[in-house]
Amino acid sequence: MRLKWIASALLLATTAIPAHAGTPAKNDSAQNAAAINMLVKSIGYRTVAGQGQVPAYAEYLAGKLKAAGFAAEDVTVQKRGETATLVARYRGTGKGKPILLSGHMDVVEARREDWERDPFVAVVENGYVYGRGSADNKAGVVVMVQTLIRLKQEGFRPNRDIILALSGDEETEMATTAALATELKGAELLLNSDAGGALLDEATGKPTVYGIQAGEKTYADFRIAFTNPGGHSSRPSKNNAIYDLAKAIDAIAAYDFPAQINELTRASLAAAATKTPGAVGEAMTRFVANPSDAQAAATLSADPEWIGTIRTTCVATMLEGGHALNALPQSAAVMVNCRIFPGVEIASVRDKLAELAGPNANITVIGNPVASDASPLRPDVLAALRKAIDARSPGVPIVPNMSAGATDSLYFRAQGVPSYGVGPYYMKASDDFSHGLNERVTVETIEGGLKQWYVLLKELTR
Ligand SMILES: [Zn+2]
Repeated sequence: MRLKWIASALLLATTAIPAHAGTPAKNDSAQNAAAINMLVKSIGYRTVAGQGQVPAYAEYLAGKLKAAGFAAEDVTVQKRGETATLVARYRGTGKGKPILLSGHMDVVEARREDWERDPFVAVVENGYVYGRGSADNKAGVVVMVQTLIRLKQEGFRPNRDIILALSGDEETEMATTAALATELKGAELLLNSDAGGALLDEATGKPTVYGIQAGEKTYADFRIAFTNPGGHSSRPSKNNAIYDLAKAIDAIAAYDFPAQINELTRASLAAAATKTPGAVGEAMTRFVANPSDAQAAATLSADPEWIGTIRTTCVATMLEGGHALNALPQSAAVMVNCRIFPGVEIASVRDKLAELAGPNANITVIGNPVASDASPLRPDVLAALRKAIDARSPGVPIVPNMSAGATDSLYFRAQGVPSYGVGPYYMKASDDFSHGLNERVTVETIEGGLKQWYVLLKELTR
């Protein structure tokens, strides 16, 4: 989960989707206690890459689902290398295509000596659950599993299959995500517990706005290299790999990719504009009205908080070059990290970098980045989410957003499955320690999240 996106875009936002009063759902203290207990147990599985603990964690969750009445053949733990996936099918009447529920079982590494407490021994204290993965993404996983258990126990019959699809290497390779997306690509849509959420006011602790993530930028790294025969440094020429590289870097630094807008950024910028004073707020309004307004785009691009919202960005992040103090360099290279606007091809960004770097550059894509377009803002999803959020925090505004990437949704969008980050997380910006030290999540995130997902799933499958 990445909560940072809402810090600015949504702190300032007003209602983009009309709120209507709702009645909070009945509290179920037994279910709340079971969910907190499950989260505490979940954190105890050290599901860090390379530790081989994901399969055991998946079996633990599978056991809970089967104990609640899921048929054994509908719950599959598949080992994939040292990690695993969990797929659980809640059978419906088959009127529609399945709805997928997404989360990840793996967590980012955490070292005991760096933390105040053991990161893999959960502590519940002062309204928080502490532990690695509490926020990213085990609370989301637990909320989804507990909601399915509750629906099963109530005998609820959805009008379509609901398929829980948990990945096992979201924080690293995303190979399990890619496999799940290929296997489940015929689905109607996906609800991701690992993106989206509400920002809480620092002073009052009250939710100010709920963000639904419906698109993300494509993450891609490029290596741009120059080679040269080299030679002794006492016999230099103007033909030098480091000089070539320096010129390429200058050209990349000076270039701005075209400004762009989509349904999501239009909504989040319009919302933020109403609460942002001065030149930046004016630029938001002008840019929403006319995305070709170069002056408005320049004002927003000058602000690191907003540049990523309106264009593809590429930035030099690492350097390699030379091999000895007294030798002409035989090679020099720069690593460039790009966050590509949804809908833009990775190849077109590569081509632009190649053009900027010049004909002698050798440019390669690092890894296997996947591009995805934004998902359409479906009225059925927005209406169901409105009811779900009202069950938990009546009237809190909902604003769509695009994140900087990358979540599991990326692979499903790339397979044509519209995907929505509708996570249970209600969090202060100052409490966002995902990937960091002393990660924690509020107990309210679990309790409120259960209400939210119960209503959300029923609304979308009745
Ligand atoms: Zn995550």
